[in-house]
Amino acid sequence: MPLYQIISATSQPCALAGRQTHVIGVSTAIVGGERRRWSMTEIVKALNNCDVFYTVSHREKSVALVELTCCVHCQRIFLRSRANAAPDSRLEQLPPCPPTT
Ligand SMILES: [Zn+2]
Repeated sequence: MPLYQIISATSQPCALAGRQTHVIGVSTAIVGGERRRWSMTEIVKALNNCDVFYTVSHREKSVALVELTCCVHCQRIFLRSRANAAPDSRLEQLPPCPPTT
C-alpha cells in the first residue's frame, strides 16, 4: 500500500459557486526525493487501489488524510483534507503545483 505525501495542490474555482475552490490535482514527494504530479483521474484510481495520500503538519507534527468529495453546486469530484487536519496541513494551505514543462 503506497503512501504519498502531498506537497502542493492545484485548485480551480467552482464553476457555479465563485468563492469555493476545488483541488483537482496534486504533486507528491516520495521518500528518496522524486516528485510526482497527479491528475484527478489518477488520484481516484490510486485511492480505489487503497493507496494513501496525506499531508503533513510541521507545526503539530501530525499527518492528515485527504478524501474525495463531490461539490454540491457543480457536482465536480475534488479532493479535500479530512476535518481533523491541522490548519497548516490543509490542502488549501499548500503551495500551487509548479507549472508542467
Ligand atoms: Zn463546485
